[in-house]
This record gives sequence, structure tokens and C-alpha cells, in this order.
Amino acid sequence: MQQSDGHNTASWSPASWRRHPIRQAPSYEDGAALAAVEERLHRYPPLVFGGEARRLKERLAAASRGEAFVLQGGPCAESFGEFTGDIIRDTFRVLLQMAAILTFSAKVPVVKIGRMAGQYAKPRSSDVEKRDGVELPCYRGDNVNSPEFTAEARRPDPARMEMGYFQAAGVLNLLRAYSRGGFANLHEVHRWNLDYVRNSPQGERYEELASQVEETLAFMKACGLEDNAPQYDEVEFYTSHEALLLPYEQALTRVDESTGQHYGLSAHFLWIGDRTRQPEGAHVEFLRGVANPIGIKVGPTTTIEDLQKLLEILNPQDEAGRITLISRMGHGKVRELLPPLLEAVRRTGRTVTWICDPMHGNTTTSSNKYKTRAFEHVLDEIMGFLDVFGQAGVIPGGIHLEMTGSDVTECTGGPRCLTDADLPTRYTTFCDPRLNAEQSLEIAFQLSDRLKR
Ligand code: PEP
Ligand code: MN
Repeated sequence: MQQSDGHNTASWSPASWRRHPIRQAPSYEDGAALAAVEERLHRYPPLVFGGEARRLKERLAAASRGEAFVLQGGPCAESFGEFTGDIIRDTFRVLLQMAAILTFSAKVPVVKIGRMAGQYAKPRSSDVEKRDGVELPCYRGDNVNSPEFTAEARRPDPARMEMGYFQAAGVLNLLRAYSRGGFANLHEVHRWNLDYVRNSPQGERYEELASQVEETLAFMKACGLEDNAPQYDEVEFYTSHEALLLPYEQALTRVDESTGQHYGLSAHFLWIGDRTRQPEGAHVEFLRGVANPIGIKVGPTTTIEDLQKLLEILNPQDEAGRITLISRMGHGKVRELLPPLLEAVRRTGRTVTWICDPMHGNTTTSSNKYKTRAFEHVLDEIMGFLDVFGQAGVIPGGIHLEMTGSDVTECTGGPRCLTDADLPTRYTTFCDPRLNAEQSLEIAFQLSDRLKR
């Protein structure tokens, strides 16, 4: 059967995206080297398991009903150079802190999803970058090329996909260890506070909350409730990235033994970016055939018609938890542009989980030429998103942030009132500016004040 948008429903295969127009794809010079890497990746063990992706789908379905809240966060782009245990641990612990803050106020489980263990491919607004009269191909993420401004570094190299696979495996291994090996134990709630945050107002407010959690646990134990259930000891932590580099995603697609369905097993959750969500395009074609929970970025240029088409193509059976719509409008536009889209989706009667990405519509250039975002704008977009949902009587499903546990100076404002002049101090992102630990905690506290039950 041929759908009007060009997707042939009968003939999806992990490779069928190759027959569709594609955007943001690198041009590899050496086809044989590319094919060899794809062939090897196809033989390697998958990084995640289909059953985990199915469980995440259930969690996201719960979030669509207001029975859970999604916290998706991590760097804009992971980097091969920043592949250290400390960086992974610190981002993970800030996500745990934020989850504790949100659980305590919203009184629902927080679904924790890292933009981690595979976030190595980036869409760019221009194919080229010019510096001092020299023009080179743009940096497309470490899975594709390297950020240094030389012709050699910017040449897409298929061998990098294999490095990306092994690094993702390393990150995932540590995340699984932290999730299950005692670090995430609720009795350790005080230890998640980072040393450099401990004495800030956010660190102190967190300490108070951690003490309340401890008292609650002690109280429950005194009442005879055993405190050794797995819920105390372990957390579910899921991984995600933008499914942009399709040769990589195809190579890691497998048939799930128990269901016979295909899953993209490079991560639990895969999303389609704002630049590659054309209903007839290759990225939509690829994702329609894998059974993972998937995200769709919804931006200021998303039309009602396209959104309805995307829901039809990507979730024809209207399965709950399958689609997460990630709104990224910009703080000045969210209150105006989101309501008609929200209403249109509601009219279709379809189940979706709406979450707010307050980062990507709020990127600006500072007076000293840094790509930055103002903390106030990020916070205002979240509040605007909640306002829109409140007015429509629809339950908001969660948030999606670019953040890190490192003490970076990439977004202005926030707890330390960072100014443009502070940005060069520790500006280490390879792509978009991230909230640092204090700014992330402050977002969680402000949000928790709104979500309090
Ligand atoms: C991103 O999430 O890093 C990104 C590029 O987002 P968007 O597709 O919404 O611009
Ligand atoms: Mn980004």
C-alpha cells in the first residue's frame, strides 16, 4: 500500500530510508570504507535490549496520563575527548538530584533519560563554516568528523562511527553500574550533591530536601516497612540521542526475539530533530519501522498538517508511549504557537506525551560572540509551556534539557548571575550551551514549586 506521503507501508526495511530524500547527511568519500564499518557494526552486540525500550514506552505512556514525569537531559553533543568517568558521573548525579527534587514535589515517578551514550551526531544550520576567509565543511558531531578547524579534521570519516559505538558502550556500562550498583541508592541521597555546589543556595536547598528524604525513609522503616526493596537501591535510567546518522542507526537495528519487531538498539529512545522531520524524508521513514519509543521535535515552523501526518506515519496504531512530542518554541513564542498545535493533536484523539525543550528556541549570540542562552529565557519557556497546558487542561509530560554536572559557564544568568564576560571562563561545549549543575538544580526547584501536589 502506498501512503500519500510516499511511505510504502508494506516495504519498510532497516534500509528503506535510502530511497527517501535525506537532509543533514555527511558525504563520505570512501564508500568501501563506509560499507566495511556498517558491516562490522551490524555484527557487533546491540547496546540496549528491546525489552528495556518496551518498558520505557510504558513509562512514557504513564507520563502521558500524568502518572509520571519525564526528565530528559545531558549535553548537546557528547565528545570523544570528554570520555571520562567524572564527567559521566557528575551529569548522572545532577539528573538524580533533579529527579529527587521533582519526585518529592510532583509525587509521581520521574522517568530519567540521558542524552548520553550515543549523542554524537549533530544537525547544523549550515553545511560550511567560515573563519577569517577560510571555508570548511561544518562539524557534524564526533561520530562524523572532528571539531578542529582544519580540512583533515572536518573530513567525514566512517571509522568514527565505530569509535562512537565503543564509547557509547563505555558510557552505558558506567551508567548501568551507577544505576544498579549502590550509587543511586536512596539512602545515598546526600552524597549526590557535588562538592562545588554544596555551599551554594541550590546546594543548601538540596541538602534540606535530602534530609527530608532521609527522615521519611527512617519513618517508614520505623513503621515496619522494609527498606531493602529494589526501588530503594536501583534506578531505571534510559539512554537517548537524535537518530540522525542513519547508516549507524541502521547497522544497530535488530529483530527482537520475543516480538519479531525491529528495534533501533543504539539507545532506548531515539528522536527526530527539528531539521529532519519532513514527513516524506529519510529520517521519518527509518523511525516508522523501529518499535522504540520515539521523540519528535516540534518547533515554530511545525505545521498542524505536518504534525498530524507524522503522528499517522509514525504511530498508525496509536500506541500509548510510542510518541513523545518535544516542544521547542522559544520563550517569546511558546504561549502563542503551542496552543493551536496542542489543540490539533488533542482533536486527533491520539495519545502523545508532550515534553518541553526550553533550550533550542532560546539560543542567542552574546556580545563577545559566544553561542549562549539566558537562564531566564529557559525558565520562562518552561513556565509558558506549563501555562499553555494548564489553560488547555492537558497534563504536561516532562522536560528535556541540555545540561551537565560540570561547572561550565555557557548559559548566562541563573544563580550566579553569569554575564557575557563570564562566558569565556569555562566554555567547553562542542555545540550548544548547557546549563551547569547549579542552573540545572535551580530549574528543578522552580519547576517543583509549580508542580507541587
Ligand atoms: C538538539 O536537541 O541538540 C537539537 C539540535 O535540537 P533541534 O532539532 O530541536 O534543533
Ligand atoms: Mn543542541
